[in-house]
Amino acid sequence: MSDTTRRRPLGGLLAASVIALAAAGAASTVYADEPPQNDGLNATYWTQNAVEFKANTYAMYALARLRLDEALADKKWTALPGEQGDSYEDKPTAVILDIDETVLDNSEYQAWTVKTGNSFSSKTWTPYVNTVTSRQIPGSLEFIKYAQSKGVAIYYISNRKDVEEKATIENLKKFGYPVDDAGEMVLVRGEKEEWKKSAKSPRRMAVGATHRVLLNIGDNLGDFTDDSDGTPAERVAFYKANQDRWGREWIMIANPTYGSWEGAAFGFNWKLPDGEKRQMKLDKMDAWAGPK
Ligand SMILES: [Mg+2]
Repeated sequence: MSDTTRRRPLGGLLAASVIALAAAGAASTVYADEPPQNDGLNATYWTQNAVEFKANTYAMYALARLRLDEALADKKWTALPGEQGDSYEDKPTAVILDIDETVLDNSEYQAWTVKTGNSFSSKTWTPYVNTVTSRQIPGSLEFIKYAQSKGVAIYYISNRKDVEEKATIENLKKFGYPVDDAGEMVLVRGEKEEWKKSAKSPRRMAVGATHRVLLNIGDNLGDFTDDSDGTPAERVAFYKANQDRWGREWIMIANPTYGSWEGAAFGFNWKLPDGEKRQMKLDKMDAWAGPK
């Protein structure tokens, strides 16, 4: 296809959209034969292709190594405020990591949703997990091996489901992540009656009952608190109230492709039409009024 053909402006009825965009002062023109827009394109492209993302996650895990050394030297240090329990100072040490977009990179699944216009569904997610083709989040393997070399136990707390645990262990093993076949190190949703919900606090507390937890590493507010489904203002309040923990005992890996941050924009009403969700995000963005 020649470039001129590809750049043909929209004709007929759709031309009205081009005119409407122009009237609204939009800087770009929509052309026919261009790929359809998708809200997830840039974020997914970034996490899969940009070295800026890779360098960022690598840096977070480099920081985690330094923090691990500090935490080992300070017996009062815990990454589970309010969940660690009493007399934890002399317990064996552990780190907790989320899996998806913290250790394993599922950008191929995200790219599939972007390319096909699908959204997340367990009907497609489980078959994807079973392909055992998740990639690695840069820096995670080096960090986990470092922690293990210091005698620190590794626990993965994931909202992957019980039925997905076997493939998850296989995927971790494929890259050489420390993990046991029995899955004692992988605490998935629904594995026990009291772990049926996605809220991770009961699983964090289970680790905290036997270990002093040095670091908690995740990509979603829900990896740190069960109150992640609040309003954007409530989420900001939690972030501020815990300001000193970020980059210390709590390490957040950037995930612009999905997460509770997105649901908060539309009250976690995921079933709303895409256009409505998009409008609610636009309404929540502060924007410059533009040149006078
Ligand atoms: Mg995650």
